[in-house]
Amino acid sequence: MKDQLGMLGELQVLERQKREAAGRKEKISVDEVRLLWQEVRLLAQTVAADREKLAGMEKACAGREDELTSLTRHCGELEQRLYRGEITNIKEIEQVRTRCEALRRDIARRENAAVAGIEDCERLAAKIAGDEANLQAKRRLHAEKQQHVAQEAARSDAELAGLEERCRALAAKVEPALLRQFRELARKLPQPVARVTGGVCGGCRRSIPTGQLAQGEGRLLYCDNCGRILLVE
Ligand SMILES: [Zn+2]
Repeated sequence: MKDQLGMLGELQVLERQKREAAGRKEKISVDEVRLLWQEVRLLAQTVAADREKLAGMEKACAGREDELTSLTRHCGELEQRLYRGEITNIKEIEQVRTRCEALRRDIARRENAAVAGIEDCERLAAKIAGDEANLQAKRRLHAEKQQHVAQEAARSDAELAGLEERCRALAAKVEPALLRQFRELARKLPQPVARVTGGVCGGCRRSIPTGQLAQGEGRLLYCDNCGRILLVE
């Protein structure tokens, strides 16, 4: 009987460990991993949109450069005509000169716009580079965390499986009638087997009458107060 009760006590400890292991498994959080993945996706979308925007801006810059080149060439041709003395009509000379001045003002304005455009491109390119570095770091972190969570889950599963196996093996050694009582009691009471130490029930901390303990040899004893199966040592 004592051996049987000892095994029940051991089973009780194992089952508690099993519940604790299951609780730890439930606490393994995937929220952080999911959140990080959302950040990765959002940042990747931002980078893609910025790249597209940059391509458009660079195209506009190239267009402005082409326009500038052609205007500058046209202005140069007009000036050449003036300097070479190809035009003799005073009125026409004035007209061409005015035209050249207007062109030069236009060119200067367009040059400023072109420089501003190039600076905008550079700023956006720098932002993209920063975001890409950030994205890589986040991707790495996500992979690490995901691996960590997977390892934790695997460790937890192995621990649970081990405990379950030990519980099964131990329960198989306990007499079926006693195991049934233990299970029934466990439905109402946590830790239904209580060790008696110094004449006190380990479940409810009440003293067990010495007379009751004395007649316990070879019989199943219950605590009068809490109803637990008593394991007298
Ligand atoms: Zn008790």
